[in-house]
Amino acid sequence: MDLKQYITIVQDWPKPGIQFKDITTLMDNGDAYRYATDKIVEYAREKHIDLVVGPEARGFIIGCPVAYSLGVGFAPVRKEGKLPRETIKVDYGLEYGKAVLTIHKDAIKPGQRVLITDDLLATGGTIEATIQLVEELGGIVAGIAFLIELSYLKGRDKLEKYDILTLMEF
Ligand code: AMP
Repeated sequence: MDLKQYITIVQDWPKPGIQFKDITTLMDNGDAYRYATDKIVEYAREKHIDLVVGPEARGFIIGCPVAYSLGVGFAPVRKEGKLPRETIKVDYGLEYGKAVLTIHKDAIKPGQRVLITDDLLATGGTIEATIQLVEELGGIVAGIAFLIELSYLKGRDKLEKYDILTLMEF
């Protein structure tokens, strides 16, 4: 299936110069959403995944159906102040300013093989921060899966040590 036909490119959103890749038109189509999910599930089975971890909010959209299909858990990574119990956090740089991501301290058992999911790999900053959280809790990042990779931003260079699956490249 050619998944690219289900992605809508929105010019100059959220600001001038950005070509936003809108995945809601893929999610809207049951066959395309299932096809993409199944591809990631196949990959996750090869990697013997014990747990799926994804950053809010689109990491949930990709990761939760994968976790359900595998019969493993899903642990959310969220912005500061959103998770109700004890967390660990990581600061990371954004294009302008800084952001903080958190995860519950007991979300991962040491040695668990983790799949990280998100909708899109751009600069790789968000996933780098997510990896830091997983590894700090003793998880093994056994794979990382995205629907889309913006290859011209070279996010992969930051993630050299890890195994990455992307279903579409722009
Ligand atoms: P980064 O940390 O630079 O890899 O950016 C990651 C997050 O920003 C992804 O989870 C995307 O949801 C979002 N993002 C960045 N660039 C785009 C884009 N051109 N279109 C859609 N989402 C984007």
